Amino acid sequence: MSISVLIIGAGPAGCYVVEQLLKKDPNISIDILEKNPYPFGLLRTGVAPDHQKIKGLQRYFEKILANQNVSLFTNVEFGTDIKYQEVKDIYDGIFICTGSATDNLHDKLDYSHHLNCGSLQVVNWYNGTYYNPKKFNPQHLNSSIAIIGLGNVALDIARIFLKPTSKLQSTEIPNQVLDLLNQKHISDVHIFVRRGPAQAKCSPKELEEVLELENASCTLHDFKVSSVDLEEAESTNRIKKNLELFKSISAGTQNKQALHIHFYSKLDKCIYDSDKLTLRFNKTKLAGSPNQQKLIETTDSYELCTNFLISSIGYRGTPLSEIPFNDNTHKIKHTLGHVQDNIFTAGWIKRGPTGVIGTNKRDALESVTSFFNYLESNPTIKKGKNTIQHLLQSKSITFFTYQDWTQLDDIEIQQGIKTNKSRVKISDKQKIKSLLHK
Ligand code: NAP
Repeated sequence: MSISVLIIGAGPAGCYVVEQLLKKDPNISIDILEKNPYPFGLLRTGVAPDHQKIKGLQRYFEKILANQNVSLFTNVEFGTDIKYQEVKDIYDGIFICTGSATDNLHDKLDYSHHLNCGSLQVVNWYNGTYYNPKKFNPQHLNSSIAIIGLGNVALDIARIFLKPTSKLQSTEIPNQVLDLLNQKHISDVHIFVRRGPAQAKCSPKELEEVLELENASCTLHDFKVSSVDLEEAESTNRIKKNLELFKSISAGTQNKQALHIHFYSKLDKCIYDSDKLTLRFNKTKLAGSPNQQKLIETTDSYELCTNFLISSIGYRGTPLSEIPFNDNTHKIKHTLGHVQDNIFTAGWIKRGPTGVIGTNKRDALESVTSFFNYLESNPTIKKGKNTIQHLLQSKSITFFTYQDWTQLDDIEIQQGIKTNKSRVKISDKQKIKSLLHK
């Protein structure tokens, strides 16, 4: 009998765990549960549609999932359709790889108002994935957009809003999104950063991409780099490169569209109107030694009027019933990926939403190593193989397999060919069900 493992989440973290498990033991039997009706998590729903090269990782992950010892069950929610108690004694290991699928919320914003939302809704929208129309109505986007935060997600959103739609047309971005962007003529995107240029969380590659947009100029507001910041830059290539890029921005080139980056600006108040927002910012400064600088609010403030506000201040994980969770860090409690008993974890739910997709590879290796160390002292081999399929069938839960995914993938690509796009995404559960005759 082979070792059996259940993985929760078929995103990059889950896929890398499968890869590492099979490397260690090619005979291992692996079942994967995924709540979406398709695999690949953020690779499909988070990576911007114009980042085609990264999206190409899908083919790499497909080779991993196509292994004969791996069974994928999508459209199945762990905790609802399948409970921990039903599987805990059946598998030698259970890996939780559920990511960070919730927005961090800004304490000065009223998210029930139609003129602001968290970044996740917007990212899901331009990725052709389900977004909550009660939280975000794209019709409210207008000529001036404000974004809080300067991470890679903020830059992705700014780039999609400012890039000529002709350059996005052939990607998998839905045509309804392009039509709306064409109709709305977004002319100004304002990014507000509570600290300085040296503390920007974004990567140079993403920064460079937005600065290189042919039709949009970039203006930096309050660009200041102190000697302490320069010391911080000395120790980190990313910061050094970011500062070089900021410094390379030439003043004076004006375009019809503009990206404004406002440093040292902490949101103090948002005054809501029916069709516009007035944002009040307190100016900040930094004090302290390198990498330990503290943010201090000054008495200076300013206001800016905009049409729509997106907070892009990072993501957080959500707890799963019966799995130990730290409510302050929003991560699963673990030691080197081992949670307790036969439970393990990997990816953002383990370490928080940091790094790029490839970071999950080393992260998965750490957790899989912990699993095999655990097996050495707990050598019982359980009967996990084929259990999930029977359990799902006995509960009459509609699930999709890897073969179903290959069919859906093919349909999406064929529809894309007809409209000169890389694919036409189908994310609606009911539509997928009927297309796959389930
Ligand atoms: P992030 O990298 O953590 O950036 C969050 C930004 O929000 C930071 O500028 C942060 O400033 C700011 N922020 C946090 N709380 C705030 C508050 N209360 N008020 C004002 N500003 C606040 O998060 P992200 O952009 O969502 O990215 C998540 C992960 O996805 C990252 O690992 C990112 O690299 C990855 N990602 C990668 C790509 C890519 O590789 N192309 C694309 C998208 C996302 P402070 O630094 O001051 O906290």
